[in-house]
Amino acid sequence: MTIGVLALQGDFDAHRKRLEELGAKVLLVRKPEQLDEIDGLVIPGGESSTFLKLLGAAGFEKLKEFVRVKPTFGTCAGAILLANEVENPKQEGLGVLDVRIRRNAYGRQLESSIREGKFANAPLEMVFIRAPKIERVGPAVEIIATEGDDPVAVRQGRVMAATFHPELSGDARVHRAFLDLVKECLVDDTCGMLAAGPSLPEELKRGLG
Ligand code: GLN
Repeated sequence: MTIGVLALQGDFDAHRKRLEELGAKVLLVRKPEQLDEIDGLVIPGGESSTFLKLLGAAGFEKLKEFVRVKPTFGTCAGAILLANEVENPKQEGLGVLDVRIRRNAYGRQLESSIREGKFANAPLEMVFIRAPKIERVGPAVEIIATEGDDPVAVRQGRVMAATFHPELSGDARVHRAFLDLVKECLVDDTCGMLAAGPSLPEELKRGLG
């Protein structure tokens, strides 16, 4: 199982380290054709508008195809790229996650902060850096983590997104949940989506039970 980490910009190396610690083989993805070699992709934090520039039209189109068929996990700027509605300002996206997301939504005081939220019903440290806020979730979207009243991690089929940076905390549960999702999609390429409702990785099901 090979996991790609989009390595155009941002904190891709922290994701690489975490995924390798969890036993995954990691490929740093810098060229569109490398997407053909991986089973799942992490789109890291950074600046979503810069990602769009660096991807270019061809890279964007290839990535758009990829995220429709293979599991993808976007954190922060990565989450913004996956959304189908982006505000502040409006921005084009990959359109595979039915959420409205507002960039830089927490204002100056909370621009960077470490807060405790809940992931699969258990406390989790969450690092927010110029974080976006998920303002609307569509009916097919599951909320898998919250902070206060806000959804901060979601899943829709093979797409996972978090507005915080799990790669910057010591806790590996969020990345492990993504690796479980990639494994699930390898054995069943509907990723459980034909079952009654969207399915959750086992670890999350237990936590949410
Ligand atoms: N503010 C960034 C954006 O709008 C996201 C910040 C991050 O990825 N840490 O793209």
